[in-house]
Amino acid sequence: MTRYIFITGGVVSSVGKGVTAAALGKLLKERGFEVSIQKLDPYINVDPGTMSPYQHGEVYVLDDGAETDLDLGHYERFIDTSLNRVCNVTTGQIYSEVIAQERRGDFLGGTIQVIPHITNEIKRRIGLVFRTTNADIVIVEVGGTVGDIESLPFLEALRQMRSDIGRDRTIFLHTTWLPRIGATGELKTKPTQHSVRELRSIGIQPDVIVARSDYVVGEDLRDKIALFCDVDARAVIPLTTTSILYEVPLLLEREGLGEHVLTRLGLKARKKPEWTEWERMIAAERKERPKVRIALVGKYVELQDAYMSVREAVRHAALSAGVKAEIIWLHSAELEKGKGFAELEMADGVIVPGGFGSRGIEGKISAARYARENKVPYLGLCLGMQVMVIEFGRHVLDSEDVNSTEFNINTPHPVIDLLPEQRGIGDMGGTMRLGLYPCVLKRGTIAKHAYNCNRVEERHRHRFEFNNTYREIFGEHGMVFSGLSPDDRLVEIAELKDHPFMLGCQFHPEFLSRPNRPHPLFKAFLEAVAVKAEARMKVGKQSVAQGTD
Ligand code: GLN
Repeated sequence: MTRYIFITGGVVSSVGKGVTAAALGKLLKERGFEVSIQKLDPYINVDPGTMSPYQHGEVYVLDDGAETDLDLGHYERFIDTSLNRVCNVTTGQIYSEVIAQERRGDFLGGTIQVIPHITNEIKRRIGLVFRTTNADIVIVEVGGTVGDIESLPFLEALRQMRSDIGRDRTIFLHTTWLPRIGATGELKTKPTQHSVRELRSIGIQPDVIVARSDYVVGEDLRDKIALFCDVDARAVIPLTTTSILYEVPLLLEREGLGEHVLTRLGLKARKKPEWTEWERMIAAERKERPKVRIALVGKYVELQDAYMSVREAVRHAALSAGVKAEIIWLHSAELEKGKGFAELEMADGVIVPGGFGSRGIEGKISAARYARENKVPYLGLCLGMQVMVIEFGRHVLDSEDVNSTEFNINTPHPVIDLLPEQRGIGDMGGTMRLGLYPCVLKRGTIAKHAYNCNRVEERHRHRFEFNNTYREIFGEHGMVFSGLSPDDRLVEIAELKDHPFMLGCQFHPEFLSRPNRPHPLFKAFLEAVAVKAEARMKVGKQSVAQGTD
């Protein structure tokens, strides 16, 4: 019978509730259980697909094309299982569903209320995770912080589930923050006590408390939290901030979280956790490695969460290439104004990630031009591929008017355009090519060499495509279409001949990168970047030896 772990957050947001959920999933998976993780988001948007990355960070896309919260990226990276669209629920989805049922007359004239109609729909959605994945253990994370108005119906639904299915099959885990008072250097448990009191006032007593802190949490504090919050001392799990995200499962393992949770759920480990590989990975991450610099040219660079999966994919690939990657965050709108080129010139590689809309687009195009002309490795992700195509088109067709119809509807050279069947779609939500699509790789190309197979499936999120009218002339000038849809209609990967690594893909490889399994395209890119960095270092040494600057 499925077991449920409900994760709530207290005190403040951003204490790593999502990472805790993901890491706990890993602890349980290591013990031989099938695990699935679901995020309940209290906001009223139907999905984060149309939300600004400034407010929400990146939109994470699943195999089935669901546009989800970035926490699902943590979940998949830690438990290495593909999740599906039932794993992200928002208040918007719940209300849309219940209101649609009411309009259909499903409630036979009854008054529709938060309890039981909204809470029933929430419980139904939680039940769908087991039904669609067959997980032994379902972890459910509630977004926001206890005390928020929006999350109340979710918490009430979880409270009901505990009595519906029984205490022995459910656990409540509460994550909190221990602030430190500068003057005395003391860590404070009072906010944790208050947030537990808040939870209790809605009928939920936590079984486990994960206490996050920037400092080491002593036994005395654990005992104090246990006493005041009425949980076992063993069930107070300190989580000290680490600079290595993937160390969190090891930290939680050391504090006994995995065993404690299993005991509370009446389960026995099906196998002994095997951490050797993971520990090796963390040790490698800690080691000094030659540094490489990668310029990431985007328009949301002030908020790095907007590029979370790209950043993680770079980290995974850098580790396997034996280098440490420093990301130089470059604002495309600044490049457009002619600023930031000095930083760009310091980079050993350039990434142009996904994006929408025309702001900063010329800055991205000039970064692609710089990479092409100076033979600096370039990786274009979705919009980044389109930018690479536009830049190449301007050069080949010798016309500054080459563009995508997303940015200039009247361009005489629409090298990136909508497919004929897409024209006339007006809605902005859920109208894109989303989720997994196949891509056939062409022999003798960088892409084929990187993947080392004939066909791959990758996750997409875009509207515009390469315009096939230009395939021939681009091909004649050195662009290779190294990945195509099986029917040959859609360009999935383009790369340049006579360049160490200039490659763009119409999909988002960053979503399939895992810490212990870097994505092949990122890995190939990082290897090219490492070669470039080594050459830079050699030149640097020679000029020092010759007394030049
Ligand atoms: N805006 C482009 C399109 O819709 C690229 C989207 C993206 O980078 N995800 O095709």
